[in-house]
Amino acid sequence: MRKNWKYWGFFLAKTLAGTFLMWALWRGLNVWMPEPEIFLRHRVNRFAQNLPWTAAFLGLWLFAVGLIYLIIWDQRQRCRVCLRRLRMPVNSGRWDRAALFSPPETQRICPYGHGTLATPEAHVAAAQPPIWTQHEDIWKELRELEGREP
Ligand SMILES: [Zn+2]
Repeated sequence: MRKNWKYWGFFLAKTLAGTFLMWALWRGLNVWMPEPEIFLRHRVNRFAQNLPWTAAFLGLWLFAVGLIYLIIWDQRQRCRVCLRRLRMPVNSGRWDRAALFSPPETQRICPYGHGTLATPEAHVAAAQPPIWTQHEDIWKELRELEGREP
């Protein structure tokens, strides 16, 4: 199997951009709400002592978790070759036969035909990972089909 350096490099770039954004927001929060001055050689902790700062910190934490989720979700929806968003979701399978014969799944395809991602919808015993199937060159395949016709 060929390594997808472009795919994982894009994921790394998004993660680094998200990390930089969170670092900038953290710095901005510390500039906006500076640490209180030392009072009688006693430093008061802001967390759980100062309600606006604690609320802002928890909001920032929630934003960071949402950003990580968004980065991973977006990465799963992309073509492993050209990084375009996968399109044209098609449902297949049946819920009444989900256990063995025809598990329901959603297939999405790259608009340039690089591959198909099949995402299982029924997680019967355990979470099932999506399956990426890389296609051959579709133009080559079409030319071969044309050559076979009389
Ligand atoms: Zn593609």
